[in-house]
Amino acid sequence: MMDLGRRKSYWNRPTLGLWERSYLPEVLRGLAVTGGVIARNLARWLTFRKGALTARYPEERRADYAAGNRGKHVLTTRPDGRPQCIACMLCATACPARVIEIEAAFDPADAAHPKHPARFEIDYSRCVFCGLCVEACPEDAIRMPQDVPDLPSHDRGEMWLSRDHLLGWCPRSDAAKPYPPGPAGGGEGGSL
Ligand code: SF4
Ligand code: SF4
Repeated sequence: MMDLGRRKSYWNRPTLGLWERSYLPEVLRGLAVTGGVIARNLARWLTFRKGALTARYPEERRADYAAGNRGKHVLTTRPDGRPQCIACMLCATACPARVIEIEAAFDPADAAHPKHPARFEIDYSRCVFCGLCVEACPEDAIRMPQDVPDLPSHDRGEMWLSRDHLLGWCPRSDAAKPYPPGPAGGGEGGSL
């Protein structure tokens, strides 16, 4: 399983003021907000107007995602099943939320791209689905397909998805960049 001890702590521990610690006013405020939404949606529904559209997740899954929807990441594989990723860290550098953690490993037998990710994790509790990691990747090694399956969790630790999960939940081995790079690949090391 994942080694939680190596991770940074990203969020502050909440400190409660007197108002929050008195508890009841905040509970009443929450009930007022929820009650207001219920009343507004009920009024719309009773007058045949479009109210809130709610799916009973996880029993029901919406399928009407927009064409440009960015869903859960996929790490693509080479034809031999190894990750296309070369652990260059560009995605982690581009990520504005700092939620990608990579540990590179070295394989001297892979002359074209000897670096690969021994650990590649994304924290979905903080990912903002901006897609900058996909744009930054020079290898077509990371993508965001349209679907968003099985992301919610009650446990922050479970929202760190591992390299093997990202490689395996929706396998893609059709990376646009050939591997290893050919001899005419702009001097990128095809003859190595
Ligand atoms: S989608 Fe955005 S926030 Fe999420 S991992 Fe990629 S760059 Fe980071
Ligand atoms: S996913 Fe792409 S950008 Fe990120 S480390 Fe791997 S090769 Fe580099």
